[in-house]
Amino acid sequence: MAEGFRVLVTGGSGLVGKALERAVSDSEKCEGFKWIFLSSKDADLTSVEQTRLLFEKHKPTHVVHLAAMVGGLFRNLQYNLDFLRNNLHMNDNVLHCAFEAGVKRVVSCLSTCIFPDKTTYPIDETMIHNGPPHESNFGYSYAKRLLDVQNRAYFRQHGRRFTSIIPTNVFGPDDNFNIEEGHVLPGLVHKAYIAKRDGSPLVVWGTGKPRRQFIYSMDLARLIVWVLLKYEEVEPIILSVGEEDEVSIKDVAEAVAAGMDFHGEIVFDVTKSDGQYKKTASNAKLRKYLPDFSFTPFDQAVKETCEWFVKNYSCARK
Ligand code: NAP
Ligand code: GDP
Repeated sequence: MAEGFRVLVTGGSGLVGKALERAVSDSEKCEGFKWIFLSSKDADLTSVEQTRLLFEKHKPTHVVHLAAMVGGLFRNLQYNLDFLRNNLHMNDNVLHCAFEAGVKRVVSCLSTCIFPDKTTYPIDETMIHNGPPHESNFGYSYAKRLLDVQNRAYFRQHGRRFTSIIPTNVFGPDDNFNIEEGHVLPGLVHKAYIAKRDGSPLVVWGTGKPRRQFIYSMDLARLIVWVLLKYEEVEPIILSVGEEDEVSIKDVAEAVAAGMDFHGEIVFDVTKSDGQYKKTASNAKLRKYLPDFSFTPFDQAVKETCEWFVKNYSCARK
């Protein structure tokens, strides 16, 4: 069945793309596939001409569309317009070139942070468009929401089955550990590294009270392979640990301190924004399909990420 599969992975050099690369090299299910992992050096996907050339060159049968302008709360607060425009262009170019090239299946990536801010919990797949997103990242959120709209339109007008996944906060090796731009977990790993080295406190931004669900990039990568091979719906699917596994930012700081073997003081800078308080998502749909899928325990995944960062400090994105 796998013979002849040519899978183009946009965003192949990022956190999720690198994890997918590791996962497919370990997976017997992917034997016989040709995987093409792309970075922005191969093409700027905001350009339709460059995107079309990629599809002509590689002639993919399947696409995993991970490329995006991505960042943590503080980068989103500053660049909502860029998040909106860059992601709108990339998404339309990739989906429409895939459509023109006759690609059978496209799996694109949304995020739980695009859901309505004022909502009931837990959030599920039917609620994406039920109200405005949190104002901190409205540019990213509306661009991502339109991926779902566009998938539905390709199905309605042309019968094409493009779909999307909705991961919660992701972390792991090859993340963006830049403190100003990146997400909370890699940011705290980098800060803990510096605090341990300099004998200074670990400074957590905000109150530490907001709550998040985290998925380890290696678990997400195994789920993406399953989605590509087995999931047939056009409607999105949330890829998340359970509601009971939601943790506070303070819990994250403590897990990172343990993972980095940091025993100094942890302090909270409450002058910094907390962002969205929570976005608790239900993984009931995923559990219906995969009741036995086993997630890596959070503390173990954080420790592996810390070890990766220390080992790769000189070349890590930071
Ligand atoms: P990442 O580490 O920042 O990687 C982004 C990827 O996109 C890189 O490969 C980058 O290429 C590529 N890219 C960016 N702009 C591009 C452009 N103009 N043309 C071509 N390629 C471009 O991001 P990630 O965390 O792996 O995110 C992957 C997907 O998961 C994204 O769709 C994101 O929205 C989604 N997601 C992420 C999280 C999270 O917590 N990280 C949570 C939910 C959903 P270069 O390496 O060459 O720059
Ligand atoms: P979000 O989950 O989409 O809101 O984005 P982030 O991954 O950036 O997480 C933001 C939450 O973590 C907010 O409550 C921040 O106040 C808190 N936080 C604490 N320390 C940091 C840090 O060093 N970097 C980032 N990005 N957020 C931090």
